Amino acid sequence: MAKKAATKRKVKKKAKKLTSVPCAFCQGTGKDPFRLLSPMAACGVCGGTGQVEVEEPYVPCAFCRGTGIHHRSRLTCTACMGKGVIAIKKPVESCPTCHGLGRDPRNELDLPCTTCLGAGVVSI
Ligand SMILES: [Zn+2]
Ligand SMILES: [Zn+2]
Ligand SMILES: [Zn+2]
Repeated sequence: MAKKAATKRKVKKKAKKLTSVPCAFCQGTGKDPFRLLSPMAACGVCGGTGQVEVEEPYVPCAFCRGTGIHHRSRLTCTACMGKGVIAIKKPVESCPTCHGLGRDPRNELDLPCTTCLGAGVVSI
């Protein structure tokens, strides 16, 4: 019995469109901006390359205002993981819960808004 040759592979329907942007956390330097470990420590977000890959389309992270840094600590922003941008399907509109702030106005702990996950906008 001859085996059927299955040479054709299924082509992925939607390949994720990735693009490189300068790492927000280290501002593209590749170095740990706060030198918590050592002055030579590599940025934990981009691994020292100064660039991070994000899915397109994306918007600036409202929670950290695109800095990649959690404003109360010196840790990476919990909404964008330090990239400074958040992938989101466009078109978008201002988040009805936080009105673009990216943080939950009712939450005292200062966590990213649970509706937009910190992006400040939601897909329409
Ligand atoms: Zn970096
Ligand atoms: Zn952020
Ligand atoms: Zn929101």
